[in-house]
Amino acid sequence: MEKDEWVTGQMQLAVDGAVFEMQLTVQANPVKPQRMLPIFQQITDLYVEFGTAAARREGREISCKKGCGACCRHFVAVSEIEAYDIAAIVERMPEPQRGAIRERFRKALAHFVENGWLEKFENCAEYENAETLKVLSDYFKEGVPCPFLVEESCSIHEERPLTCREYLVTSPAENCAAPTRENIDLVRLPVRPMGNILALGQQKPINGLNVVPLIASLKFAETKPNDFPEKTGEQWMTEFLQSVTKGEISRAPKA
Ligand code: SF4
Repeated sequence: MEKDEWVTGQMQLAVDGAVFEMQLTVQANPVKPQRMLPIFQQITDLYVEFGTAAARREGREISCKKGCGACCRHFVAVSEIEAYDIAAIVERMPEPQRGAIRERFRKALAHFVENGWLEKFENCAEYENAETLKVLSDYFKEGVPCPFLVEESCSIHEERPLTCREYLVTSPAENCAAPTRENIDLVRLPVRPMGNILALGQQKPINGLNVVPLIASLKFAETKPNDFPEKTGEQWMTEFLQSVTKGEISRAPKA
């Protein structure tokens, strides 16, 4: 693999009148979009910080804490880009951790294949919204933990998917063990970047919902060739920000 070259720039994000500044260093050479994930995660964390501060101003405290993994038994959707990244994270793990995590992925996926859930998920494009929501919430009823959940904490916390970063609640933690629409208060985020990376660089949607169940990530990466194009970090950032801001981005004139 050729050595990366880097370029640094300043980015400003304006959210509800507040301006956030970030210094970003991205590849100047063409790369696959999963190499951009650390930046997309950083931007997601910024929106989460904004949403958390707004909740606190309303007198709401975040209930999510280390050691509470109730939401890690929900259906977790990842983008195609993240599915390849998850496979790479597992591949980098030392043994025996890698073997143990691979086995958890295998068992979790086998469970949802055997009980017919995966087939229903793959047919979601044919359902009405209510039926799709039922399929997604049925996942939780099985009580199958995410393969990365260890002692009720995320073992890949720094690299966790965008969906996991975006999910925070202010309702009592115990409500997450029996969630309903009424008893869960989600932290509102001005933008949920997960939705903005779904189509990034993609040749065509992978299924009706265009997401991969986290537990199917390893299988997905093994069976679907990574045919994402390579672009410079600046090009990927421009596409991502155009999607987040619906085209409202401006560039400072070059000095
Ligand atoms: S990746 Fe981490 S935070 Fe996300 S569901 Fe799995 S254990 Fe939980």
